[in-house]
Amino acid sequence: MHLYSRQILLDGWDIEAQEKLKLANVLIVGCGGIGCFSAELLARAGVGKITLIDADVIETSNLQRQIAYTPTDLGFYKAEILAKRLMQINPYIEIVCLTTLLDAQNAGTLVAQQDLVLDGCDNFSTRYLVNQYCRQLNVPLLSASAIGFQGQMFMVEGDSACYECLFPKEQHANESLRCADSGVLATTPNVMASLQAHHALLYLGLGNTALKQKLLLWDGLSMKQRLLSFDQDHNCPVCQAR
Ligand SMILES: [Zn+2]
Repeated sequence: MHLYSRQILLDGWDIEAQEKLKLANVLIVGCGGIGCFSAELLARAGVGKITLIDADVIETSNLQRQIAYTPTDLGFYKAEILAKRLMQINPYIEIVCLTTLLDAQNAGTLVAQQDLVLDGCDNFSTRYLVNQYCRQLNVPLLSASAIGFQGQMFMVEGDSACYECLFPKEQHANESLRCADSGVLATTPNVMASLQAHHALLYLGLGNTALKQKLLLWDGLSMKQRLLSFDQDHNCPVCQAR
């Protein structure tokens, strides 16, 4: 109670909302610039069980923006180092870490156990896969990404349109827009991680789905934020397969 007192004091956030966080299972896909910070915010806020999945090890070029890691962590698995950090930050919650890729073999079982999935991965094939399993298993998804000075985020929930409705796969197949190739300012993924974690708390505690079927675009040069509504694509293979 003392640990979460500033939340419980909030108008519109009571013990019941806090208990909902405690009972929640959240999967974080990718422990890079977005995942490592949104995971920390959820751990501090009191989300009861957090599962981390990331197959990468920590590299020097990650340290500029991935705030969970220090130079002594170089070469270790991100998911393991992040799990240790979260357990130190909040010993009253459960942390599970997986140092494998999310793939078609493990995605179904993993996603089905969750109340919410936060995607912060760094590649399109994983993003499409997470979208597909969340949509088909009816598990809400908050997906955030950051590149350069720009960030975007959207929510897939219930019968909403999905990522593949918004960005059909065949149009994206040849793109390889990643931080590794294109660069990213230290703050951009952390802004998006904050927005993602914030929305996650609103959803888990209060059932708020503000970004359902909406694309949030954050422009880190003008500081402008826009929300675009998008519709279901009746030819979307993911939504049709449900
Ligand atoms: Zn769809």
